Amino acid sequence: MPVNLDLPRPAPSRLKRLFGRWWRQQSPARQDRLATLAPLLSVLMFLSAITAAFWYLRNEEIDRATDAVRRDTEVAQQQMRLHLIENQEQLVRIARELVTRDINAGEFLDQAATFQRERPEVRQLTWVNAARKVRASQTVISFQQEVSNDGTTPDPSLPSDGKRTESEFTFLAARDTRQPVYSRPFTDADGTPVFQIQVPLIDRGNFAGTLIVEYSIEALVRFFVPTEVSRRHAMQVLGPDEQVLASTVTVMPGQPVAKPSLLHDLPLAPMSNGLVLRGQGYRTSIGLIGNTLFWMVVALSVLTVWMLLGTWRHMRRRTQIQNALVQETNFRRAMENSMLTGMRAMDMEGKVTYVNPAFCAMTGYSEVDLVGGRPPFPYWPPDRIDENTRLLQQELQGRSPAGGIEVKVMRKDGSVFDARMYVSPLIDPKGLQTGWMTSMTNITEAKRIRDQLSASHERFTTVLEGLDAAVSVLSVQQGELLFANRSYRLWFGVDARGHTQLANTSAALAFVPEPDEDVDGLSGLPTQELTEAGAQPREVYVESLQMWFDVRSRYLQWTDGRLAQMLIATDITARRRVEEQVQQQAEKAQVTSRLITMGEMASSVAHELNQPLTAINNYCNGMVSRVRNESINTEDLIAALQKTARQAERAGQIIHRIRAFVKKSEPQRQPAQAFEIVDDAVELAGIELRRRKVAIHTYVAQRLPTLMVDPILIEQVLMNLLKNAAEAIDSAQLPPSRRNIELRVVPRHTPDQGGTIEFSVTDMGPGMKEEVLARLYEAFFSTKAEGLGIGLSLCRSIIESHRGRMKAENLYNGSIVTGCRFAFTLPVDLTQRADLHNVPDVPDAAAAANPNATSS
Ligand code: ADP
Repeated sequence: MPVNLDLPRPAPSRLKRLFGRWWRQQSPARQDRLATLAPLLSVLMFLSAITAAFWYLRNEEIDRATDAVRRDTEVAQQQMRLHLIENQEQLVRIARELVTRDINAGEFLDQAATFQRERPEVRQLTWVNAARKVRASQTVISFQQEVSNDGTTPDPSLPSDGKRTESEFTFLAARDTRQPVYSRPFTDADGTPVFQIQVPLIDRGNFAGTLIVEYSIEALVRFFVPTEVSRRHAMQVLGPDEQVLASTVTVMPGQPVAKPSLLHDLPLAPMSNGLVLRGQGYRTSIGLIGNTLFWMVVALSVLTVWMLLGTWRHMRRRTQIQNALVQETNFRRAMENSMLTGMRAMDMEGKVTYVNPAFCAMTGYSEVDLVGGRPPFPYWPPDRIDENTRLLQQELQGRSPAGGIEVKVMRKDGSVFDARMYVSPLIDPKGLQTGWMTSMTNITEAKRIRDQLSASHERFTTVLEGLDAAVSVLSVQQGELLFANRSYRLWFGVDARGHTQLANTSAALAFVPEPDEDVDGLSGLPTQELTEAGAQPREVYVESLQMWFDVRSRYLQWTDGRLAQMLIATDITARRRVEEQVQQQAEKAQVTSRLITMGEMASSVAHELNQPLTAINNYCNGMVSRVRNESINTEDLIAALQKTARQAERAGQIIHRIRAFVKKSEPQRQPAQAFEIVDDAVELAGIELRRRKVAIHTYVAQRLPTLMVDPILIEQVLMNLLKNAAEAIDSAQLPPSRRNIELRVVPRHTPDQGGTIEFSVTDMGPGMKEEVLARLYEAFFSTKAEGLGIGLSLCRSIIESHRGRMKAENLYNGSIVTGCRFAFTLPVDLTQRADLHNVPDVPDAAAAANPNATSS
């Protein structure tokens, strides 16, 4: 849940507001970067500020030190200058006295001694005349004086004409300028660096020599640099060539001279003589301390920057983790929001701490209504509070069943639905249980579907159980009976034997894969094709039950995907019985029909039989009278007896044929020749034809194939057709020229039957009217007064039972009917499978067998 960051804050200033707006405009990544870079920047700024401060302080320090050096140098210079000037004034006074008071050498020396006593810097006080001759000289006692003054080397402290010594230059300058003149520094006979002042002696306007005073530079420095100055700074006096002539600091011989960092130079003498006073200062410890501090600050800053970078890296890692966490949280939230399962979390006391949107949507309550709530919860139906309290207790104690519990939940609008709840413990990151998480699914729809399913299953089983047919399902691979209905159990029990018994005799094994087929046994069995393949119904006789079944089998995929065979076996025993009866009756009808035919032909037959009998009688009477007269010899008698026997044989043959024709026998197929059938039929029919004076012409094609038929039945058909033709001709009382019948037997090939033999009977009679043609094969349809009308119907049944076809047509000459033609075909390749017992035209056959019909 987003955290509310809008805490009350003091009214921000305008600048703050502007900054705040700018800050909010930045992207979070930029904000992060800025938040990281800002401390880094401030550390760098701090470092530069510190550096600047140190630099400033150092400069300040140097300035102060320089200033001190300058001031001390100035003080020292001032001291020396003042002293020199004071000395100069004194010397000028002495010089004047020397001239004016005409002082001799002794007095001068006294004065000089006094002068020198108070002034330790003065090394020598000499009076020389204009010719450079020493009048008197007061010198500081020197141990080296005697050594150097051997008379050969001139004293550098005295002017000597023509010599280029400092003393001489000064002497000349003093003489010329008539002013006291300071010499440039030089080394006196002792090797001590010195300089001179020569005060000219002017006697009444004439140059009378000089008063030479020689200063020891070293003493000057020693006595006139104040102690507090020399304690602070070193003071040096330098010559014109920058060589050190005297210093307040004595350097240990052999030690390197520390180079001073601060210098201040000032001219020393009152008049310029090239001497320079140099004050020296050294950088004090402030630099070192400053440096240490500075480097400490730098080190601390670097450390801070390093730690900042470390923190930054750490923060970046944290941000990455946080991002991953946010992503995960978002993912989980999206998942939670998108799923249809309601989720509810409770603490250990049963207080609701969380609900997801699906839970709210299910119950109709908002998150605010539910979170923080304690039992009884608002979605508990009022009449189930006790039960729900008990369930909640169970839940809080962790005793909820793993398979979930079914509860009723009431929506805010008061409607109730069924739900299933699953409970699981809620574990915090430390591994401690903090509560319970409950998921809830609405199972109303599932329950409805389940109820519907069970109802439909019940209906299905009721229908199946109520069926008269036995329904069984057998798994193909395991041979296990998967289903059997009540009828099956009743007839075959609960094992698979009944199924296999029914299936074995049916098309059960019709699906044995052919070797060249691309099928690898059962594993690769194309079950789809199998299940789609419908099976032809089979009629199976079960010996043990003495029952006939119509068995239909079908392959199907069982509910678990296994290939299974379903059989539906319908009890057809009753139908089979009826069929058998009908068959028997049809046979009877055929025989009856033949009897009727013979009955109708009875007079003709009697007439036919009468002829041989009459002949036999005549032969016998003739023989008796001739034997009595004894007018017959043996040979004639034998001949007459043979004739008699032939006539008797002829009569016997007629009777035999009639007997064979009407004999009650089972229909039996056998190999038969067409011409034999034709001969027999023509023989019998000939009796009737002759009586009706109708001629018959027979044509049977040569080398006809053998037929597989019942010859008596085919003969019966031919008889019927010939008799009908003769009757039609006779009843029309046609002239002898039209009293002809033609019987033709020829081979014929038809597209639907293949090779056949066609029998046709053509007469030249009156033909058939349209209505007669339409009802020709109807049983009991006859146009004749004494006709029964079963002949043609029986004929067609017989032909069709031999898988033949029968047709009748009128013959025309233009529009005039010239006769009619009845023809039937018999297939020559009749297979063994053809069932002669099976007479399809049951109603006709049954009707033909009707005893009432035959008796009338
Ligand atoms: P029935 O001979 O007892 O009448 P059928 O079934 O043999 O019974 O014949 C039915 C009818 O068909 C006959 O009544 C007759 O009208 C007609 N019929 C059969 N054969 C011929 C034929 N060759 N010429 C004209 N009519 C015929």
